Amino acid sequence: MKKHNFYAGPSILSQYTIKNTADAIIDFADMGLSILEISHRSKQFQAVVDEAVALVKELLEVPEGYSVLFLGGGASLQFAMAPMNFLNTKAAYLDTGVWASKAIKEAKLFGEVDVVASGKESKYTVIPKDWTVPADADYFHYTSNNTIYGTEIRKDPEVSVPMICDMSSDIFSRPVDVSKYDLIYAGAQKNLAPSGVTICIVKDAALDKVKRVIPTMLKYKTHVDKGSMFNTPPVLPIFAALQTLKYYKSLGGIREIEKMDLAKAEKLYEAIDTSKMFVATVQNKEDRSIMNVCFVMKPEYAEFEKDFIDFATSKGIMGIKGHRDVGGFRASLYNALPMESVDALVECMREFESLH
Ligand SMILES: *Cc1c(COP(=O)(O)O)cnc(C)c1O
Repeated sequence: MKKHNFYAGPSILSQYTIKNTADAIIDFADMGLSILEISHRSKQFQAVVDEAVALVKELLEVPEGYSVLFLGGGASLQFAMAPMNFLNTKAAYLDTGVWASKAIKEAKLFGEVDVVASGKESKYTVIPKDWTVPADADYFHYTSNNTIYGTEIRKDPEVSVPMICDMSSDIFSRPVDVSKYDLIYAGAQKNLAPSGVTICIVKDAALDKVKRVIPTMLKYKTHVDKGSMFNTPPVLPIFAALQTLKYYKSLGGIREIEKMDLAKAEKLYEAIDTSKMFVATVQNKEDRSIMNVCFVMKPEYAEFEKDFIDFATSKGIMGIKGHRDVGGFRASLYNALPMESVDALVECMREFESLH
């Protein structure tokens, strides 16, 4: 049976990525060896890193003066590494969910944190509006897509200080004005590669400005100077990331991908909004994520929640159970998910409704 992969992360990858990675596990770059067993300093692997860096720069139109890094430790390490490297006295943070809160918690270890607004009161189903970032903040940090709640900030905010953004779950789904950022980071396992690598796009001129002593491995400058080769990088996830980047380019780049992503999300939200049984948890249309669509049963149908998951599973629809903090359902529509899978989910919802 055809499977439709709606997992939130790790999540769907293109068949191009999976097939080429599988091939490289058998024989990488005609070396007669697996990519699992070759030196990260071989010229064949250096070529992989170089091409991946170049493609990130091309796809996101990264200006001069920025470095692209492939690091370990997940997005969660960036919650600490970002303030360690950029926070001198005070930083401003927008609290839009669990990931943002975790970033705030780490930042407080390094200085004053001004939480400009929080969506906590509304259980993070709304993106707070009407906040201002103090002009004396070292930077403003936000989470562009709130994977757990299905809210998203799809436009670069206008603030008077440099920005740092956790784009783990929506990078490569919209054009970004990178020049506004000192740092963009993203764990790979939502829209790029298997878990194990984090992409960082860092402004070179913003580095080495804090006074504290930073351990070598936790300094961006270390990795910038060594082109992500200070120590052994996550070789296989970087190889897979390169395949996805090539695939994105073949689709026509970020603007084309964004059009497809918008069309998929529109179709699913439309089906939910017109349903007798389901209701979207995010009601403000402008706050809705096009990557993670969260919905629940209306109260009068609440008893059918588990039945629906089982029904969907029987149709090959995988991974739509909501996050354990939120419940209900979450359909993640990352770049690699085809429209065909959205159609299958919508049809499954309609069929389930007609049976109850
Ligand atoms: C998944 C996710 C994280 C956590 O990433 P790890 O790589 O597991 O540390 C952080 N932020 C966002 C927005 C996420 O979706």
